Amino acid sequence: MGYAFIDTVGILGNILSTGREIQVECAECKGLHRFTAAEIAGLAEKVGREFNLLNRRCRCRLTPGCTGWNRFFFRSGVYRPLFTPEQSGRWSDEARAARMSLPPTTL
Ligand SMILES: [Zn+2]
Repeated sequence: MGYAFIDTVGILGNILSTGREIQVECAECKGLHRFTAAEIAGLAEKVGREFNLLNRRCRCRLTPGCTGWNRFFFRSGVYRPLFTPEQSGRWSDEARAARMSLPPTTL
């Protein structure tokens, strides 16, 4: 499985035409949601079939009050990240920077 595959596997039109299974996972609350085809179709209606889930994330809606991020995974045998190692590194850096930052009102 090469890089070209992950570039296109998360395009909503491709997900719908192949019946690819997609889920989100939250690193914070360990929540998990598997999308139905209807949910993907609903998303495609809002953002278009060309929209690519690659390297996207959204605020957690799996657990009320959770401030974590949901990351996308696609099924190819097992569930695999729908984000690149580079993007994962950037997200980790951001989280680390946020933890190291004093609240703006501290000083
Ligand atoms: Zn969460």
